[in-house]
Formats: sequence, C-alpha cells, structure tokens
Amino acid sequence: MNIPFNKPYMTGRELWCIAQAHTNGHLAGDGMFTQKCHVWLESLTGSRKALLTHSCTAALEMAAILVDIQSGDEVIMPSYTFVSTANAFVLRGGVPVFVDIRPDTLNIDETLIEAAITPRTKAIMPVHYAGVACEMDTIMDIASRHNLWVIEDAAQGIMSTYKGKPLGSIGHLGAYSFHETKNIISGEGGALLINDKRFAERAEVIREKGTNRSQFFRGQVDKYTWVDVGSSYLPGEVIAAFLWAQMEEAQSITQRRMDIWQQYHEAFKSLDNAGILRRPIVPEDCQHNAHMYYILLESLAKRSEVIAELKKHGVNPVFHYVPLHSSPAGKKYGRASGELRHTDNLADRLLRLPLWVGLGEAQGLVISELQNAVV
Ligand SMILES: *Cc1c(COP(=O)(O)O)cnc(C)c1O
Repeated sequence: MNIPFNKPYMTGRELWCIAQAHTNGHLAGDGMFTQKCHVWLESLTGSRKALLTHSCTAALEMAAILVDIQSGDEVIMPSYTFVSTANAFVLRGGVPVFVDIRPDTLNIDETLIEAAITPRTKAIMPVHYAGVACEMDTIMDIASRHNLWVIEDAAQGIMSTYKGKPLGSIGHLGAYSFHETKNIISGEGGALLINDKRFAERAEVIREKGTNRSQFFRGQVDKYTWVDVGSSYLPGEVIAAFLWAQMEEAQSITQRRMDIWQQYHEAFKSLDNAGILRRPIVPEDCQHNAHMYYILLESLAKRSEVIAELKKHGVNPVFHYVPLHSSPAGKKYGRASGELRHTDNLADRLLRLPLWVGLGEAQGLVISELQNAVV
C-alpha cells in the first residue's frame, strides 16, 4: 500500500462547468465563471473586491505593485514561509526583513515586529500558517501607528477566521491560493482581496496589462488604452470554471478535512501528553480550515528516523520550509531581524501528514504507523 501525501480532490462537477465555458465560447479571463467566483469570494469574505489571479504568487506580486514598493523598501515577514511571500517584493527591489515565529502557531511573532521597523519599512506580511490566523489585532494596531500596509498571505487560509473575520479580509490586501495542494483548488490559481477601497481601481488595471480594459467594458471610459504598469495576472475561463465547481462545495470540503484533522488530533493526544510529539496549537480566537496536520518531533535526527520508518510502510510524509533567511536567495535579498531561534528549531522538527478528502481508511494506517515510528 502506498499512501500519497496529497491527492487533489475533485467534486465531479468540474468537467461539467468546463463544458459550459466551452459552450459559452468565452475562453479568455473575466467571463461568467470568473464573475461567479468573484461574487462568491466577496460574499464569503466581505472584501470590497476580489480578483482571480493565475496564482497566489501573482496576487502577491500585484500587492507589491499596489503598495508601490520601491528599491530598498522593507517588508516585515516571517522567514518560515513559502518563497513567494518574499519574492513578490524582491522583484520590485524590496527587502524582506525576517522576524521569528511563535512556537505555538508557527506564525510571525507579533511582539517582535516593532523592533524590526525602520524608516524604510513599508509593509507587514502576516502569513497564516496552516490556515491558523496570526494575531491580527496587534498587527493592525502596529501598522496603523507606524503607517504601514498590511498584506495577508492567506494562501492557506480560505474558510478560516480570526475573531469571526475571514482571513485575507483583515489587512489592506489579502491573497489566496488555489494551487492543487491547497483546500479549494484549480490546479494553479489564486485571488487578490482588496479590502481598502483606495486600491480597487488600480488593481483592475494592473491585472489587465496596465490597461483600463475593465472600465472600458463597464462603459466608464470610452477608450481602451495603456494607463499604468501592469502584467497579465488573470486566469482563463477554463480555470475559473474548474474553480467554481470547487467553490460550490467549499463548505463540505472544509468539513471533511476538519474531520480528518480532528481524528489525527485525538489519536496523538496521549503521545503529546507523554512529551513524545507536539500537536498543532490553535488559539481560541482562531477557527482554522484543516489545511494541514503537522506534528513536531524532538529533533532533526528523530524526524529523519520517523520519515524513513514511515516510508518503509508506504506512508509519505513531507516537511517544509527551508527558512528563507538561510536560503541562498534569502541571504542575498533579505535580512534577519534579531535571532530566529524558533524558526530554525521548529523547521527541523516539523512533519506533515497526509490530509486529503478521500483519505478514508488509509488514515488509520498512517496513525498506527506513526505511533509505532515515534516511540
Ligand atoms: C502555496 C503558498 C503560496 C503560493 O501559492 P501559489 O498559488 O502556488 O502561487 C504562497 N504563500 C504561501 C504561504 C503558500 O502556502
């Protein structure tokens, strides 16, 4: 038996929606399905405007243009994140400033942010790891006192909330991912949430190659022309059609993932109590979306041992990330603020278990193999 780490879930409606897009004959972006996805995202999040992009990476790149990152501008973020969090800003000459994470949630430690602020700081990038929210009240307060933008990397955070507010809708801008490894998918895909109305109009322009095409089609301007910098950040309708089929089932997909997450959590309770591993910690104010189930082992050596053991029995766990401050590009383009003790320590000890809709009875095997491997 071989249990993959991830298996993209499909509702069965995707092909039907794609066939409809095919029949409609509108294959470029911003057709009927894109519109449906925008409306759904706006009603889910209460965001002023949602725009589909071809990836979360693209949404973050749009955010960097919108907040007008100039050469040497600094953006405060965790080092324990995916490369796109930093790359989007580096592409515009920005400097990622890496701050340590909290040992409980593995999110940016909000108490270390103020010490990292300099006259060049332009924005703070909270990354909601595993769909568990960062301490957003504190982060928004720091940002408003220092006049900084907050861009939420909510790539993993769709359907999660912080104090009842959907992730991605709290900062000035937020970004979702629909990559096939995320909860709601379209293969590659993403969305930018525009929560501050000052960005709404320009976001459309940047996404449409720097043209006023959207305004032109709404009849707001009588000429379609080049008005600003931009690129092509929108997905075609086939992708949007696929995504729409997923959005229709977003609640049940999330619920089914939560059930799997909860089963792992209960199964490993006694190992956690015995100090053999540590389970994820979700603060009271955070409703998560079961994006990920991870455990923390005692050391890097122990993790390597457990992975080897699990692989022997057909279970394929994975780990991530190489902290950005110790990556070749991170060293070249960014800098660390203070010591990143928890980042270095936790990145070596984290192990992610298979979590996908349809895992079914294989989960029992993962649980028992892990219980055998850790002791
Ligand atoms: C997945 C992910 C991204 C990138 O998403 P894409 O849609 O693949 O571009 C960015 N940040 C985080 C934290 C992610 O998990």
